[in-house]
Amino acid sequence: MEGLELRTPYFLVDERLLQKNLELLRQVADEAGCKILLAQKAFSMFACYPQIRRYLDGTTASGLHEARLGREEFGGETHVFSPAYREDEFEELLSLADHFVFNSPGQVRKFGLRAKEAGKSTGLRVNPECSTQEGHQIYDPCAPGSRLGTTLAQFDPELLPLLDGLHFHTLCEQDSDALEVTAAAFEEKFSPWLKGLKWLNLGGGHHITRPGYDVERLVRVIRRLRESYGAEIYLEPGEAVVLNAGFLVTSVLETLHNGVEIAILDASAACHMPDVLEMPYRPPLAGAVGPGEKPFTYRLAGPTCLAGDVIGDYSFDRPLAEGSRLVFEDMALYTMVKTNTFNGMRLPDIVLRKMDGQVEVVKSFGYETFKERLS
Ligand SMILES: *Cc1c(COP(=O)(O)O)cnc(C)c1O
Repeated sequence: MEGLELRTPYFLVDERLLQKNLELLRQVADEAGCKILLAQKAFSMFACYPQIRRYLDGTTASGLHEARLGREEFGGETHVFSPAYREDEFEELLSLADHFVFNSPGQVRKFGLRAKEAGKSTGLRVNPECSTQEGHQIYDPCAPGSRLGTTLAQFDPELLPLLDGLHFHTLCEQDSDALEVTAAAFEEKFSPWLKGLKWLNLGGGHHITRPGYDVERLVRVIRRLRESYGAEIYLEPGEAVVLNAGFLVTSVLETLHNGVEIAILDASAACHMPDVLEMPYRPPLAGAVGPGEKPFTYRLAGPTCLAGDVIGDYSFDRPLAEGSRLVFEDMALYTMVKTNTFNGMRLPDIVLRKMDGQVEVVKSFGYETFKERLS
């Protein structure tokens, strides 16, 4: 890996890898006749926005700050969804976003007319009550008791004059078969009201750029929806935009032994890749495989005081030692946007590897970042 002299830990995003994803997404948008937005909650590294905006139609935001970042740094269409908008932010949001997606009839009653009168496109997020994922309950908006989206029982057709479109987001890292099942459930429940809508937004969670994803089925599903209802179709993937396009580079600070070999890294699961603990998952690591498969197995752990700050057990061809560099893969999504400074940890620098191979540190963090958030 280039840039070995850089101070670790750092996130590195590779424009060439990103470009491959963007080209595929553009191809989907062209073939299906839909629009694709970047869900900024997964990836807000705005140094990459000039590249991404050549391929995607805009951004979607979870609230005021992401909407502002999308408007200021990306351009194109700015969409926003929030489970509950704040009165004290709504005016500012009106100046930033073009599309407002509401979560409930109550939110449409509270804010819908104001959005329409400001010339915005408006929609309601519905809950098609169709769970297609197993395992990751915290990522299932269709789980019983979910607050995300309006169920058919709560749907109020009298609000339709205030709505231009409907939105659902139920998938997480899924293939287009799950979308097909979800779209069918959505149509079965909401078909009486779909004709005449300007748009349908199929949310995110489409793992489009994962090798083996069934792109043809995705294109079929989108085309069919578009033709059946005469509506513009939106997708708003986060993960798929930057899948396998970034790395977290870290160094070994110390090795020790307690029944197993342990390596303490300068990157922390708790601070720098919280999804490893939250989701949880085992990030791929260049040159390493599962424990016991190669001669030298280590438990890789972070430098914080949290006992559970453990990334996982991996095996290597050679022993690790102080200064060994490790490169975690697929580290662009849900990482930089989720870092924290627990234990006063320094945030990883943000590095861009350009098309021409040049490596540029676009942001460097220090003590100030830690102190700024406290008083
Ligand atoms: C999280 C989210 C997305 C993006 O999801 P990915 O899994 O990153 O593709 C899109 N839309 C909404 C409403 C979301 O909450």
